[in-house]
Amino acid sequence: KSFNATPAANVSKVNFEDIGGQATAINELKEALDFIINQEKIINLGIRPLKGILLTGPPGTGKTLMAKAAAGYTESVFVACSGSEFIEMYAGVGAQRVRQLFQTARDTAAKLKKDSAIIFIDEIDILGGKRGQNTSHHEYDQTLNQMLVEMDGLKVNDKVRILVMAATNRVDMLDPALLRPGRFDRQVKVDLADKSGRLEILKLHCRNKPLSDDVSLDEIAKQTFGFSGAHLESLANEAAILAMREECTEIKQHHFLEAIDKVMMGEKLEKRPPR
Ligand code: ATP
Repeated sequence: KSFNATPAANVSKVNFEDIGGQATAINELKEALDFIINQEKIINLGIRPLKGILLTGPPGTGKTLMAKAAAGYTESVFVACSGSEFIEMYAGVGAQRVRQLFQTARDTAAKLKKDSAIIFIDEIDILGGKRGQNTSHHEYDQTLNQMLVEMDGLKVNDKVRILVMAATNRVDMLDPALLRPGRFDRQVKVDLADKSGRLEILKLHCRNKPLSDDVSLDEIAKQTFGFSGAHLESLANEAAILAMREECTEIKQHHFLEAIDKVMMGEKLEKRPPR
């Protein structure tokens, strides 16, 4: 699989306004991104450029959305991939892919006449796990080493400035070399939303849905403790499907309540150990 064909290297259409219940994380992220936007001031003050931001937190909380919104905010091209794409049986292939990834970011930015690119690596722990633990498998080490080489090589005055954003829910598993200054030296926590955050997310995902007067999203937010943004998106969709099955033109409260059960059931099925 070649990176030239795979990653969605493009301009992002996601805004921070499309992300619910993450005000703190968004503020922290924007503050870090302002470093990139005000590049000249940073250079004048002799501040070390920001090369990497690590988004940590459970699955489905909006880490990918945050990275896409960051690309929109900084008018950067966006290149996405997953740590699992670097794991190969043949030595050197992973490292080669890391090189290709950075090259794709530079080429796409040049093509779209942008001077910055954001590379997003989901599940960075797969390629950036602690070195030396896979004694039978030096491939991981080579891939991680190449990642460090690429990040160390990023300069403030590069024609295309690159910021690497990565996501993980296992920050404890990462090789400490990745967390050193000049690499992923900023961490932003993207946690599960609280009740008011869940309400915000539900509102976002019901923006274009016809809701009956009896719907209380506040009540649904109350009853969905522990649900991620991805769960809530799926809940809103399930509720609409249930309404359609009953040939309703609007979604009613009982559709949302039934959808809560459906999403929870789905979660249980996913967690069942494989037979
Ligand atoms: P993973 O770690 O599993 O990759 P993630 O944290 O990157 O998950 P996303 O891929 O950003 O999560 O979220 C998946 C989908 O869930 C989004 O496309 C969106 O529809 C919905 N979603 C997740 N979090 C939020 C949020 N905070 N606000 C609005 N929608 C959200």
